[in-house]
Amino acid sequence: MEHLHKIARFATVLVVAVSLVEAWFLARKARHQGKAYPWHEMGLSIADMAGRKVLALLPLSLATPIFAFAWHHRLFTVDINNVLAVLMLFVGLEFCYYWYHRASHRIRFFWATHAVHHSPNELTLGTAYRLGWTGKITGTSLFFAPLVFLGIRPEVVLATLSLNLLYQFWLHTTWIPKLGWLEYVFNTPSAHRVHHASNVDYLDANYGGVLIIFDRLFGTYVEEREDEPCRFGLVHPTTTHNPLVNQFEHWVSLGKDMLRSGNVLTAMGYLIMPPGWAPNGQGTTTEALRRQRTAASAGTQAVEPAVTIGAR
Ligand SMILES: [Zn+2]
Ligand SMILES: [Zn+2]
Repeated sequence: MEHLHKIARFATVLVVAVSLVEAWFLARKARHQGKAYPWHEMGLSIADMAGRKVLALLPLSLATPIFAFAWHHRLFTVDINNVLAVLMLFVGLEFCYYWYHRASHRIRFFWATHAVHHSPNELTLGTAYRLGWTGKITGTSLFFAPLVFLGIRPEVVLATLSLNLLYQFWLHTTWIPKLGWLEYVFNTPSAHRVHHASNVDYLDANYGGVLIIFDRLFGTYVEEREDEPCRFGLVHPTTTHNPLVNQFEHWVSLGKDMLRSGNVLTAMGYLIMPPGWAPNGQGTTTEALRRQRTAASAGTQAVEPAVTIGAR
């Protein structure tokens, strides 16, 4: 176990170092173009990672009781000691990851954490480790508990999830082009650029981790188009340089919407409906934004969506 921790520490140092090298190159390019490089984005990502390392020391994670319960009631005991078992673990984790990620975009309670990952207005390698501080206390491990219930040891599930996230590091780049046939099977920088884009055409797409096949299977795959350059960041871009604001602004806006709602049913709606949902139908969910865009292009309605409620 100790050598696993050593590998994890080495991987952490490596990804931060590589992301700093990329930032140096991008800053140099920006300087040549007479532009300022947004170094604060790197600062926010490093603050995110540092904060998660500190929080990991506290016994706050819901994964421990959730996985303990699933392990206690497991159906089988599966040893990952042959190729077939490794393959099934890999595909099983991908399947769970797809639904975890899809829920993180479609349920505002989970989005309040995941929005932090989508807050950078530039897509850089530093984005990969800006994952939000509140994931461990919101029960995201529930999505991976079925694997433990089927008999895979909790530490194996967590280690595989870490490898999955490590794979995704290189996806957070703007300088790697489309990769031919790999685009059909794997999550690639091009597919993940679409995932991080807030263009109406690109919202809620490409949820896969290592593979893109579940997006293709469940109808959430969207290809990057030359005529639609990605606009990175949130629909309503975050401009803060303050790590605390960056981490908690979506929780604050969710809390405000719930308190303002005036009744329990509407408050629950804010909690479990997609980001942008509003009870009067005037929100800015992906579907509403697409309807408004269609109406605008038909010349029947104002072009800009009216945006006040249900931050996203
Ligand atoms: Zn996402
Ligand atoms: Zn990402």
